[in-house]
Formats: sequence, C-alpha cells, structure tokens
Amino acid sequence: MLTEQIWTANAYRNFNYLIACGQTGEALAVDPLDHEKCLAAAKAKGWTITQILNTHEHRDHTGGNQAMVAATGAKVLAHRNAKDKIAGMDRGLGARDVIKIGKTVELECLDTPGHTMAHICLLAHGDKPALFCGDTLFNAGAGNCHNGGHPAELFNTFVGQLAKLPDETLIYPGHDYIANNLGFTLDREPDNAKAKAILPAMKAQDPTKALVTTLALEKEINTFFRLTSSSVIRRLREAFPDLPDAPDPKTVFLKLRELRNKW
Ligand SMILES: [Zn+2]
Ligand SMILES: [Zn+2]
Repeated sequence: MLTEQIWTANAYRNFNYLIACGQTGEALAVDPLDHEKCLAAAKAKGWTITQILNTHEHRDHTGGNQAMVAATGAKVLAHRNAKDKIAGMDRGLGARDVIKIGKTVELECLDTPGHTMAHICLLAHGDKPALFCGDTLFNAGAGNCHNGGHPAELFNTFVGQLAKLPDETLIYPGHDYIANNLGFTLDREPDNAKAKAILPAMKAQDPTKALVTTLALEKEINTFFRLTSSSVIRRLREAFPDLPDAPDPKTVFLKLRELRNKW
C-alpha cells in the first residue's frame, strides 16, 4: 500500500490523501477537497484515481467530489447514512465492509459515529496498520460534535474501537491541528512531559512534511485517550467541583469535550 498525504494549505487546514496499489497504480482519494492538488500528486506518481472515499458529509471533505469525478470518473464511496447528504454517491458503506484498491490493497471500514452519525474511518491492516480517521480522531485531539454529532457516541467510538487498535497504527487525520491540540493537552495536563517536549517542533512543523503519529503516541499526548490519568482528573475537578473522586471514563470524556468546545 502506498500512501500520500496532501496538505491543502487552506484555512481549515485539511489533509487529503491518496492510497494506491503499488502493482496497478490504481488509487483511492480520501476527502479530495483540493482536487487539483490531488490530481497533480496522482499524475506525478503515475497513479489513476478510480475511487473517492468521503469520511463524512461535511463540505470541507466532499467539496472536491464533483470536479474529481468529472476529471477521473471515480466512484464515490461514503457511509450509507450519508446517501441523502452527499450527491452522486455510488456505494454506501457500513462496519466491516472492505474497499479494494487495485490488486494489493484492502481497507476495512469502521463505522465511527460521534463527529457526525455517518462517519467512516478506514483501517489498513498489515505490518504497518494505518487509520484514516477523518474528523473523528485528530493528532492530540478529537472531533467536535457541533454539526450533526453526539459526544456520547464519540466516546463509544474512542473507547470501543480506536483505543483497541494496535499501538503501532499510523494515524492519518483529516486536518492538521496538532500544535493547537497540544495546547489543550497541556492546559488539561500541565505535567504531560511528552506533549511539552514535542510542542515546539509541532508549532514549527512544515505541514507538507507533517509528523505521522502512532496510536501509542496518541495515547500519550491526546487527552481524549487519557481518561483515567490522575492529573487529568485532578485538574478536571477544578472546573467541575461536583465530579466524584473516581469518575468513570465516559464522564471524563464528556467533560473534556465540553471544555474543549470553549477552549
Ligand atoms: Zn467534519
Ligand atoms: Zn473537516
């Protein structure tokens, strides 16, 4: 499996992706908002885009579909619940569905509600598993639930699915928010040494050569995976004095999501 992360350099800081079969050169474009950059990247690699995957229905993920289909004739794939929201969908996806690219690539669909209720993450198995997680999981952060989502569902997705993936899973999110998100991590957990250590480099990073994190690193620097950390809970109690001594992970997640909305 060949992966190309494409920095759009737009105001929303979107990442687009190409995932290709090394044998046939067939490629799938993930959320190709910047269709011109995606097409140029495919051309430079000698790849042919035959499928488009929208992780979810928001315009900053689907806005390039029309031009991409016009240029390539690619099929549009998305969560089956998005069929009334994404024009021209060719295939509706659900949990455990498989997307094949060329002869060598198979991606498993995870049904990951929370950011919206029609959100798919793609999981590539293999020696180096990889997760294309749209707006569900960000580097050092979690998607918001303002536009069609539910925080309790996002919690279930984090704990019930994402946290259980192999530690070495590479994380490919839909936006570059790492520097800002590390600020929230340190606001919630000022003694998080790892977050503190990488913040300067992340503030200065060139998004065309962005750090690709692993799930193991996310579990260190992403507050939304640190629901039983004593310092996270201690600090949370300053904002919510009614919090019990040993709050359950769901309560911690929901309170963190609430604080992040205002942060
Ligand atoms: Zn979104
Ligand atoms: Zn987005």
